[in-house]
Amino acid sequence: MSVALFTHPDMIEHRPGPGHPERPERLQAVLDALDAAPLDLDRRAATEAAITDLERLHPPGYVARLLTAAPRHGVNALDPDTILSPGSVRAARLAAGAVVDAVRAVARGETARAFAAVRPPGHHAEPDRSMGFCLFSNVAVAARVAQSEGLARVAVIDFDVHHGNGTQAAFEADDSLFLGSIHQMPLYPGTGAASETGLGNIVNVPVPPHAAREAWRSTFAGGLMPALEAFAPDLILISAGFDAHRRDPLAHQSLEAEDFAWATRAVLEVARSCCAGKVVSSLEGGYDLEGLGRSTVAHVQALGEE
Ligand SMILES: [Zn+2]
Repeated sequence: MSVALFTHPDMIEHRPGPGHPERPERLQAVLDALDAAPLDLDRRAATEAAITDLERLHPPGYVARLLTAAPRHGVNALDPDTILSPGSVRAARLAAGAVVDAVRAVARGETARAFAAVRPPGHHAEPDRSMGFCLFSNVAVAARVAQSEGLARVAVIDFDVHHGNGTQAAFEADDSLFLGSIHQMPLYPGTGAASETGLGNIVNVPVPPHAAREAWRSTFAGGLMPALEAFAPDLILISAGFDAHRRDPLAHQSLEAEDFAWATRAVLEVARSCCAGKVVSSLEGGYDLEGLGRSTVAHVQALGEE
């Protein structure tokens, strides 16, 4: 089936500066790889997230502060990792907006599968704190929007190699939301131990550095999928970071592009039984351009399987 692709070229105008791993070329590499692949994509221009939607998750004071934080010239560092250029706030609103638009399209029955090709990523941004390259918590905002559209139970599966501390902070006190995360530990941001369970709605399955592909797969299948199915979601979101790829410079995992396709199929199998196959995926990390491009194509291709 066709996959709705939500993106916008203005997200390339978030320029955190020379040497920063979360660089504009990442999104270009993703879009170039998707263009070159034989995929059935329904292309949509993402729109900026409305302030009312951002405030479903982030406190109004936080949203107001971020919306005026972009510099007129040069850069403004919110912390050593999270750096704004003049185009960053529009990019961040487009990134959240792309996932929100994707969720509304699925909630309203226009499509069952969507992928948001975005940057900056979102899963480290907590409700009241930007960090780790992330400004708005794109997927967590979209989960709240999904609930406002009548999808009461929303699950996030996060296979980015870093723990999604922001999504966890947003979900841990609300058992209508579920987070299942596989990530390398130890690694930034240091959270994500298996003992962090929220109200029973948070499942963290850390893997050690240099885990074998087979070990990663069995942890994903055995550690996350039964809990996802037991939660019985009305919609599944994927925080799709591709930095567990073996080429990635920020972590030490062994995955190939086809492993991301395999993980996508595992999520789809649950989605078919729980929620009529409805899945919205959003790009998070992935810092080797070749690994990122290939992995995204494998993921989106699998996302389009019936
Ligand atoms: Zn990451």
